Amino acid sequence: MQPKASILLKKGKEESMERFHPWVFSGAIDRIEGPLEEGDLVVVRKSNGDVIGYGHCAIGSIAVRLFSFGETPPGTEFWEMRIRQAYHLRERMGLTDAPDTNVYRLVHGEGDGLPGLIADYYNGTVVLQAHTVGMWLVREAITVALKAVLGEKLAAVYDKSAKTLPFKANIEARDGYLFGTSVNGEVQEYGNRFKVDWLEGQKTGFFIDQRENRRLLSTYARDKSVLNMFCYTGGFSFYAMQGGAKLVHSVDSSAKAIELTRENVELNFPGDSRHEAFVADGFEYLQDIQDKYDLIVLDPPAFAKHRNALPQALQGYKRLNTKAFQQIRPGGILFTFSCSQVVTRNNFREAVFSAAAIAGREVRILHQLSQPVDHPINIYHPEGEYLKGLVLYVE
Ligand code: SAH
Repeated sequence: MQPKASILLKKGKEESMERFHPWVFSGAIDRIEGPLEEGDLVVVRKSNGDVIGYGHCAIGSIAVRLFSFGETPPGTEFWEMRIRQAYHLRERMGLTDAPDTNVYRLVHGEGDGLPGLIADYYNGTVVLQAHTVGMWLVREAITVALKAVLGEKLAAVYDKSAKTLPFKANIEARDGYLFGTSVNGEVQEYGNRFKVDWLEGQKTGFFIDQRENRRLLSTYARDKSVLNMFCYTGGFSFYAMQGGAKLVHSVDSSAKAIELTRENVELNFPGDSRHEAFVADGFEYLQDIQDKYDLIVLDPPAFAKHRNALPQALQGYKRLNTKAFQQIRPGGILFTFSCSQVVTRNNFREAVFSAAAIAGREVRILHQLSQPVDHPINIYHPEGEYLKGLVLYVE
């Protein structure tokens, strides 16, 4: 692969990239040599001309996302090499051949050296989401690489990038199969069955990132009355049922999500009357749940998508958690999460700390949760740590 253009950095602006941070901000660029279109492969150079690495360029404050460092341009085998590395990691973690789990994230952007690309594996079908035009343009090559790496384990590749590509790029992408077709949208996670709708569902269809946290919840659920707020496909709910919960209420503002939750609960616990699901706004529902629940899960959508929304997002987390602290039963357990990338672990903990103080409850931290092994964090890219959770004991 040969870059058409060179990007030269301002003097002294190469430091973070020399420490393998994959992002080149537009403010660091001195000049561009050669023709350049959004999504092109570019070479990034220091002011003295030395090569730092290669990546895809984009319009916006992150002007280049580097995926290959050093002098040598990535060769034709590059995508396959990266996908193989990603696969090997999951293989070593026991995810690719697990007896009771056939859903995992295969490629997690920067965490797998492929900034801008997400690939989730659903029992034979890989759902791709490109967040950059560069990755979208190489989707056919990625598909070839997936076939080479997964072999018989791959039945279909579905591209679901229409909504994730930067809207400014003005690309009219259509979602669709790049290889094969598949209808079987059922997967298993630790033996629990989920219907996944990658055609219409949120993100790639399922929130794989909560797998280990859902499992932890089941260990605390015995004889508890559980509220699963922001339930989406209901995962936390039937892990709670599996753990012996007395009653489980699932709440989401999306009617479609509640429908999926009901279907999934029925799939795992047919006819079980312990579960009820409600379409409601989270903040409103939490107005009046006085003493009803002794285990509450709060897993809201990202409140801040950009840095300038951070203060408002922190207020949101504070408000939400305050309501839960005020009303959870004595001896209750709160599983509370933030999946906003711009909210740091400390930001989140402070928001939850303020909420506890407002409610005036005695609160202890039992677990500090994160994202699972198939959502790895590149040590040079701390921004990749997006999922933060706290499990709290409320006296
Ligand atoms: N806990 C889920 C993932 C949650 S994703 C899991 O384990 O799979 C966040 C969910 O919050 C989405 O399903 C979205 O529909 C819902 N949501 C967004 N805003 C909401 C609101 N104001 N009230 C209730 N639900 C909301």
